[in-house]
Amino acid sequence: MSNELNLNGVGMTSQRTRDRLVRRLREQGIRDERILDVINSTPRHAFIDEALAHRAYEDTALPIGFNQTISQPYIVARMTEVLLAEGPLNRVLEIGTGSGYQTAVLAQLTNKVFTLERISGLLDKAVSRFKLLGLRNIQFKHADGGMGWPERGPYDAIIVTASPRRIADELIGQLAEGGRIIAPVGHGGNQQLTVTTNTMGEVSSEVLEAVKFVPLVAGKS
Ligand code: SAH
Repeated sequence: MSNELNLNGVGMTSQRTRDRLVRRLREQGIRDERILDVINSTPRHAFIDEALAHRAYEDTALPIGFNQTISQPYIVARMTEVLLAEGPLNRVLEIGTGSGYQTAVLAQLTNKVFTLERISGLLDKAVSRFKLLGLRNIQFKHADGGMGWPERGPYDAIIVTASPRRIADELIGQLAEGGRIIAPVGHGGNQQLTVTTNTMGEVSSEVLEAVKFVPLVAGKS
């Protein structure tokens, strides 16, 4: 056998292990079967280092280098569910590509995903994973995404996968009518998963639950 990545998975990355994760997500309240199907069929072990692959289908965040983490599957599912709740999404902006796992999940459920990452070493790996999986509806850029990607907007949804202290007005300005932003707003041990909507010029936000993400950081590296 070569040491090429086995996308189907064996042992701790097998289909049986993935089924167990999906069962757990269902128990935790994830209801959207389209999302559960995508999580079931997306090889999360391809998004982390081989040394950690045996833990890929645990419902936990895992290190991906550069002091960053791949998000917990429950959080990926929950954020995706909130974004999809009001109907199909055409254009989605993601700030914080990281491993590319959340990007890959969204790309299979929406028309087009735009993703920004400030650490080139992470973005390069994520992009090679998109290619490996044949995901062609993702546009990416190595950039500080704090102010969004105005040239590609407006977006039906924006997902921020690192924690900002507040939602920048620039992001709200890039939302299409009726669009929504989901982000872990706060800092340190005090972050709330927050949905911000923009309907007929009226901006409102709703807090969903406490979460723990790495901080949104300015600048590129
Ligand atoms: N959804 C990703 C989460 C990765 S962690 C996954 O599941 O793998 C958050 C990511 O946001 C990190 O890769 C970090 O480098 C990136 N990030 C932090 N601040 C950023 C900024 N201002 N612009 C773009 N990316 C940023």
